Amino acid sequence: MRRVFVNEPVLDGNERKYINECIDTNWISFEGPFVKRFEQGMAELTDRKHAVAVSNGSVALDTAVLALKIGEGDEVIMPTFTIISCAAPLVRVGAKPVLIDADPLTFNMKVEDIEAKITEKTKAIMVVHIYGLPVNMDPVLDIAKKHNLYVIEDAAEMHGQTYKGRPCGSFGDISTFSFYPNKHITCGEGGMVLTNDDNLAERCALVRNLFFSPKKRYVHEELGYNFRMTNVQAALGCAQLEKLKRTVEKKHHIGALYNKLLKDVDGLQLPVTSTDYADNIYWVYGIVLDDKIPVDADEMMKRLGAEGIGCRGFFWGMHEQPVFKGMHLFDGEEYPVASRLARRGFYIPSGVNLTDDDQEYVVEKLKEVLYECDK
Ligand SMILES: *Cc1c(COP(=O)(O)O)cnc(C)c1O
Repeated sequence: MRRVFVNEPVLDGNERKYINECIDTNWISFEGPFVKRFEQGMAELTDRKHAVAVSNGSVALDTAVLALKIGEGDEVIMPTFTIISCAAPLVRVGAKPVLIDADPLTFNMKVEDIEAKITEKTKAIMVVHIYGLPVNMDPVLDIAKKHNLYVIEDAAEMHGQTYKGRPCGSFGDISTFSFYPNKHITCGEGGMVLTNDDNLAERCALVRNLFFSPKKRYVHEELGYNFRMTNVQAALGCAQLEKLKRTVEKKHHIGALYNKLLKDVDGLQLPVTSTDYADNIYWVYGIVLDDKIPVDADEMMKRLGAEGIGCRGFFWGMHEQPVFKGMHLFDGEEYPVASRLARRGFYIPSGVNLTDDDQEYVVEKLKEVLYECDK
């Protein structure tokens, strides 16, 4: 049976050459030269003064939270419709995630709901750009300024995307990226923390490296972690970063072709192609099933999977996570848009390896499965 995977990385640039360099020079640890080079490259991409490479995008968020000294009793406003990596660092330090529902079309948090959730305990707003379109940043930055709040920008899905022409990852006090294999740049595993603030950058680097005192090694004034990135990971990252422009062009092509092929298919909500501040970058091509389709996303994915088409469900909102229910974090709170997206939304193969023929095949199978549902 023909199979189309939900995502496959493409390693057709200098990846092999740079990894061979690691082996030939014996530099595989964090101390190797690719780590600095990758940090510089990401700082340039995002117009940031400092970049701190870490082992994945989840701990990049932990690093941001620890660097900002967010802690016990603090509140941080964030979307419910996101990955657990955003909420976990807050809960671990005893802070409370304060949730915002999603916009039904862009899937990003409803910026207009933020201000009503601010209390005297609010310390920060965590912005997460979801699936392909950035959050409308200007109002968020205005609110943060007015109420003296930090802004953390999770740009894990936005390498190469812009907001009003400015790079995603350039906003707020600290921004973060992931380099997981389904991201526009991958290191296998990897993450980055970026900031313009010298003190914050220093704290991020200390958190990443066990808080080894710069004055004397093996002396620690706070507890940190080993969140270091290896030179081998960074070698991959450098090679991938060189190809980012091409990757982004390919993503636009994939999105545009799916839009064209799916235009007249009844019962599907397709991604918003653009807003007045950005064009969709289609990190993933997300589809939401209309209520009239008699099956949910799980059933659709199962049926497509049986046809060899790899799909993934949408995020499951933070307010519905069993782990947080057990902690009574969001008792009685409802976020109907995120709850619906979690049940009706899924994404179809969206990796940069896709050919036009693959996409046509995916759409053909999707139409067949939808037709079957209607019978
Ligand atoms: C992928 C992703 C992360 C987590 O990154 P990992 O490298 O997988 O730990 C965090 N936030 C968002 C929005 C993501 O898409």
